[in-house]
Amino acid sequence: QAANIGVVGLAVMGSNLARNLASREGNTVAVFNRTYAKTDELVTEHPEAGFVPTSSYEEFAAALQKPRTAIIMVKAGAGTDAVIDELLRVFEPGDIIVDGGNALFTDTIRREKAVRETGVNFVGMGVSGGEEGALLGPSLMPGGPDESWATLGPILKSIAAVAEGEPCVTHVGHDGAGHFVKMVHNGIEYADMQLIAEAYDLIRRGTGKSPAEIADVFAEWNRGELESYLIEITAEVLRQVDAATGEPLVDVIVDQAGAKGTGGWTVQTAIDLGVPVSGIAEAVFARSLSSHPEQREVSGELPGWHDADAVPPVRDADAFIENVRLALFASKIVAYSQGFDEIRAGAAHYGWDIDLGAVSKIWRGGCIIRAQFLNRIADAYDAEPGLPVLLTAPYFVEALGRAQAAWRRTVVYAATAGIPAPAFSSSLAYYDGLRAERLPAALIQGQRDFFGAHTYKRIDKPGTFHTLWSGDRTEVEAEDTH
Ligand code: NDP
Repeated sequence: QAANIGVVGLAVMGSNLARNLASREGNTVAVFNRTYAKTDELVTEHPEAGFVPTSSYEEFAAALQKPRTAIIMVKAGAGTDAVIDELLRVFEPGDIIVDGGNALFTDTIRREKAVRETGVNFVGMGVSGGEEGALLGPSLMPGGPDESWATLGPILKSIAAVAEGEPCVTHVGHDGAGHFVKMVHNGIEYADMQLIAEAYDLIRRGTGKSPAEIADVFAEWNRGELESYLIEITAEVLRQVDAATGEPLVDVIVDQAGAKGTGGWTVQTAIDLGVPVSGIAEAVFARSLSSHPEQREVSGELPGWHDADAVPPVRDADAFIENVRLALFASKIVAYSQGFDEIRAGAAHYGWDIDLGAVSKIWRGGCIIRAQFLNRIADAYDAEPGLPVLLTAPYFVEALGRAQAAWRRTVVYAATAGIPAPAFSSSLAYYDGLRAERLPAALIQGQRDFFGAHTYKRIDKPGTFHTLWSGDRTEVEAEDTH
């Protein structure tokens, strides 16, 4: 029988997404994988899904109702381009190709343009939630043209996660908007994980509590304003005991963090857009630092301030832990605010009409950063859609005010004890940078004018000025270089 949707690429993500689609009323799913053995395995293992297996692109196209809709879930990069070329060979104008892989948004913009010329619609879609999300309900971030959303919307709504009665999918914007938002989601995920890791490290080294005891702390935090999937799984990981050694698993795992690159993309893109995503950047760099064991080995000679391993002991463990909790909450607000700032800037630069409140809502379920907290972000954008800086919304101003003293104390403790807390401290520096009435950027402008005649503006009158530094140091009016 004819299938209403097809999936190409049946590794873990594609096969789970295909099973999710097949489990919904009214869907018949055609499946294709370059290596047929995987197709055969999926179809044999899941007879209940009623898949239509196909062994060539021609057969795949013939199995689909028109207009054809295919979701690609293959290795991002060259694999995606190869599959698009094959599909274009057998598809017709009006058909829809959806790329659900982790594509770089600029690749998606390029692909959308090229595919559009053939009359086929192309949709780059961010998929979050890993393999479990793909099977049970992911958070979906589709871009692409409006016509495709009309066809795809109902199907995607039927397979997405549901948060507070709403499906975690929205038409994010045109061409690369979906993959852009997915990229920033991953950047925020890096920051959130780093902040949690710093909180754990401070509590462990500051109070001497065991991983199991700290698991209890995180479980407790998960009942309050920090409630989130990442806090929940942190408690699970810290509680895990290694069967082979009887040690906490976290002490047996090599302390070098891996990365697949999407956090780095977020930072590179932010640099291009001129957006300070310092929390995300610190998280990416903390992973890089951890992954250079050769440097850390030779650095064993670097002196600390205190003798040997004497971290100043924390006098009141409970009060300290509460400080760390508030520091984590405040730094998290900064990281999310910076991430949304990047989406706002990306939307302005690429001409996407992105509803930031809708984005925060579709992250409430299915994805790794799902959290109660996202409702507060949605509220902030509902109240003021054009909010220039998320953390200036009343709820966040109140929270930051409440957390501030604890946040500062925690950063002071980290610096004094010699415990690295790059995301905590840089978030605080960002906050103080926003608050500052005057920044030393004025001095930087002076330096730039000194060595490069880059000119400056004055606070007291319009125009652009230059001081004759190598002459008599009088000021002259300069041509505006901007
Ligand atoms: P992989 O990224 O490991 O990709 C394997 C799949 O790609 C196989 O089906 C493979 O076919 C196919 N493939 C690779 N190259 C080609 C090619 N040149 N032509 C045709 N097919 C090709 O699979 P995953 O399931 O882990 O991920 C799929 C996509 O989803 C990726 O883009 C990934 O980044 C993204 N993603 C992954 C998440 C995760 O948690 N894993 C979360 C969100 C998105 P064959 O069997 O023939 O080798």
